[in-house]
Amino acid sequence: MDDELIIGIDLGTTHSLVGVVDSGFPLVLADEKGERLLPSCVSWPAGQPPLVGTGAMRARVLAPDRTVSSIKRFMGRTFADLSPAEIEETPYRLVPGGRGEILVQLDEQTLVTPEEVSALILGRLRETAAQALEQPAGRAVVTVPAYFNHSQREATRKAAELAGLRVERILNEPTAAALAYGLDRLGEAATVAVYDLGGGTFDLSVLQMREGFFEVIATAGDTRLGGDDLDLALARHFADALGLGDLSGSEAAALRLRAREAKETLSNEERVTVRLPFFRDGESYELELTRERFERLALSLIERTAPICRRAFAEAAEKGAGKIDRLILVGGSTRIPLVREKLHEWFGLDPDLSQHPDEAVALGAAIQAGMLCGRVRQILLVDVTPLSLGIETFGGLMNVIIPRNSTIPVKAGELFTNAVDGQESMAIRVLQGERELAKDNWLLGEVVLPFAPGPKGSARVGVQFSINRDGILEVLARDTATGEDHVLEIRNAAVDVEDEAIERMIGESIDFAFEDMNERIWTEAKLKSEELLPAVDEALAAVGNRLPVEDREAIAAAAEAVRSVLASETHDAKALKSANAALDEATQTLAALLVEAAFEGVGP
Ligand code: ADP
Ligand code: MG
Repeated sequence: MDDELIIGIDLGTTHSLVGVVDSGFPLVLADEKGERLLPSCVSWPAGQPPLVGTGAMRARVLAPDRTVSSIKRFMGRTFADLSPAEIEETPYRLVPGGRGEILVQLDEQTLVTPEEVSALILGRLRETAAQALEQPAGRAVVTVPAYFNHSQREATRKAAELAGLRVERILNEPTAAALAYGLDRLGEAATVAVYDLGGGTFDLSVLQMREGFFEVIATAGDTRLGGDDLDLALARHFADALGLGDLSGSEAAALRLRAREAKETLSNEERVTVRLPFFRDGESYELELTRERFERLALSLIERTAPICRRAFAEAAEKGAGKIDRLILVGGSTRIPLVREKLHEWFGLDPDLSQHPDEAVALGAAIQAGMLCGRVRQILLVDVTPLSLGIETFGGLMNVIIPRNSTIPVKAGELFTNAVDGQESMAIRVLQGERELAKDNWLLGEVVLPFAPGPKGSARVGVQFSINRDGILEVLARDTATGEDHVLEIRNAAVDVEDEAIERMIGESIDFAFEDMNERIWTEAKLKSEELLPAVDEALAAVGNRLPVEDREAIAAAAEAVRSVLASETHDAKALKSANAALDEATQTLAALLVEAAFEGVGP
């Protein structure tokens, strides 16, 4: 099973693509007509099987209400989430389902879910791959925007499953794009900005290379800004310029199609002739459009991306990112020359243009897929533990076993012992988080390991954490005396944590670093005092009579000092440490006497 092919899929709002690593090279696959970009569009002609892709796009003019495009906008969201404008502007009918989910109503009888629509697109890509590669494709890496939340990601996964694909990894689009540009070979701490302007959405993500993998450190965007808006503005301009007045539904659709073609042509040419043959009542229309005129229309839209970029850059800077080392452009709309000019003007950044902006995400998905199925030798590290994992130790401290940002799969362990005499069991509390104290982290699970009671330090418990490729954490606790194992399996929690929760946890660990550190030192010093005080009492009882009275008084005073700091409510870690040290110092002679006495056979 493991050497079976894995394909990489960019499931886009406007276009979807499929790629694979073949003979060591990542490539985007073409369908039987030679097309590599599949329009993310599905149409249901009455009484016929659904059309997917270009066929569906053509059907849109005839049956706009039975044709679904941009379904990605509705994946994993609830009907209550939708703004009135979103419902209004969607050319097909959206209705709420029984669980508050969004459904598309095609006619009286037919309802489809966003997952089902996406599954048809994914199914088509799967067929394209199977045809091109002459072998079935059952496993995939699928990309999603960095800002997608858990339920949007889950909906994507479900759509793939409906299409008969097992999802090996959900990958962030900007990370995929960076992989396609080979930016994983940039040095440590390199900062990459990914500017993605597609058909319907814009987002800017800042990634940072940390310990060999990319981390999305900031992302900002506008889910209602893209090339479609330019098409609309241009179509409106055509209608005005030609004095067309009110447009019918299919006239509007046809005009938008022509607008889009003109727009795309103007990325390479200075002017274009737009023709509308037999547009209305057998009459044809024609008009000239220059790039300069188009740019005047497009400017305000493109300018809307500037404050979004600034927001993401500021957020990245707050998180310690330095200057942007590389800018990459993703999404078909970044082919517009004005976008590049503006990025240069605003930020002095010139993009790396070595890849096609509309294929980069799919290529990156293919590379990630290739790595997963062993078709790419070089190990790139992209999946990591978002937060540290560990167990609670004596005194309520967090003992980290697998640090945050460890690449998975990963295995690590430590040996623990009983902290008190006669202890009969050890509770292993599995924690996740960045805080020093156990109680401030999240409890993922707990097992109790019984062992034979014995003196302090006699029991030996090995604790091993291992996280497999699927992100499942297995905690193995073994009593090394008996070899008895206890296993605790924790599904997904180890790796699948909401980005927001991670940010909060990390933010808090920084905010509270000072207090946390003091608390940790205090707890450690307190454990030391609790060990020291009874030992001193025991030694005094055994051999104290051999000491001069001043020495005994000094020891008593030092012990008293430790007790009084311990009793204070301020948790002054520094004071406790120095009191411990003073007690240690004062008992040097006593300790030596104790050793002597042991040799004489009269000791305790
Ligand atoms: P998505 O990620 O949303 O699926 P794409 O990356 O496929 O989007 O981008 C689609 C958008 O790119 C469309 O609005 C399309 O018109 C636009 N586009 C494609 N090629 C060009 C071009 N040469 N010039 C301008 N815009 C283009
Ligand atoms: Mg895209």
